[in-house]
Amino acid sequence: MKKKRIILHIDMDYFFAQVEERENPHFRGKPVVVGADPKEGKGRGVVSTCNYEARKYGIRSGMPISRAYKLFPEAVFLPVNMHFYEKVSVSIFDIVRKNVGEVELVSLDEAYADITKKAGSYKKAEEIGERIRKMVFRKEKLTCTVGIGENKMMAKIACEEAKPNGIKTVKSTESLKFIEKMKVEKIPGIGPKTREVMEKHLGKKNLKIKDARKIKKEKLVDLFGKRGGDFYNKLRGVDKSSVETERDVKTVGKEHTFQEDTRDPQKITKTFKGLVFSVSKKVERESLSTKGVVVVCRFEDFETHTRQTSFPKGDYDSDFFYKKSVPLLLRFLTESNKKIRLVGFRVITGS
Ligand SMILES: [Mg+2]
Repeated sequence: MKKKRIILHIDMDYFFAQVEERENPHFRGKPVVVGADPKEGKGRGVVSTCNYEARKYGIRSGMPISRAYKLFPEAVFLPVNMHFYEKVSVSIFDIVRKNVGEVELVSLDEAYADITKKAGSYKKAEEIGERIRKMVFRKEKLTCTVGIGENKMMAKIACEEAKPNGIKTVKSTESLKFIEKMKVEKIPGIGPKTREVMEKHLGKKNLKIKDARKIKKEKLVDLFGKRGGDFYNKLRGVDKSSVETERDVKTVGKEHTFQEDTRDPQKITKTFKGLVFSVSKKVERESLSTKGVVVVCRFEDFETHTRQTSFPKGDYDSDFFYKKSVPLLLRFLTESNKKIRLVGFRVITGS
């Protein structure tokens, strides 16, 4: 049996807004909303981040800026100063890497690290987490929250529970119980639509994780296909996905940043096709055998996601790569309403 893992998740608290508070101490104690220009309620675009004072008025990240303005027009509305946040982010994750080695960066303010070897025990893991929190605060005067668990999902949920400015460890023996009373939507991949299908099947509303566990595995697969099997595991605190640091995977790839963030599917797929073609050329030139493709997508708020699929190691051409990767790209477009800033394509080379 594989050894139990210890995963650490770190997430800066209301990052953009907290950086703004730090730079402008007179904003402290006031609701701060970082995002699009509200234009007195007529603005388009969304809230990127807001502080906890703003949340008291019902303002949330991802909400239309016009709605946030209506909820509390007196709030401090600030534009997104991404280049500055990026600099702060680099400094923060340098500190994190010093403590845990390579990380998987999910966005400017969030990362995972596999600290199984480094920590060896949950107690030691929590010490590492606490040390990171202290060092980040000392250097950057910013608070963050750390979650520790047996896999990425549990570490993230632990982190969410401990927010803000906290730390939480959920040992592997506690996972099942820790999440049982939570809403079923706590499980990544389960949204309102999936919940409704589950509720209909069970004839019960406001589904909790423990309720959803009553659905048999076969039924979940019946209802949701391959994702159903994944839900079955995740509802039980099981998440096998590994922490993918940049060093772990040997890839060859290319990225493209759009001049303006876009959701135009034609523009995006055309650009993407160009990337696939150019990477394929390189693969051909260097006669690399490949065993998988990775699609990278960075949204307008700099959140970056990757999706990948694997296949038997071999020599493939651009048509094959495109056929394998374009469905992954399209899922990014259908699963989020955010505009896209960057797309990337990589092949995983066989070692
Ligand atoms: Mg955060």
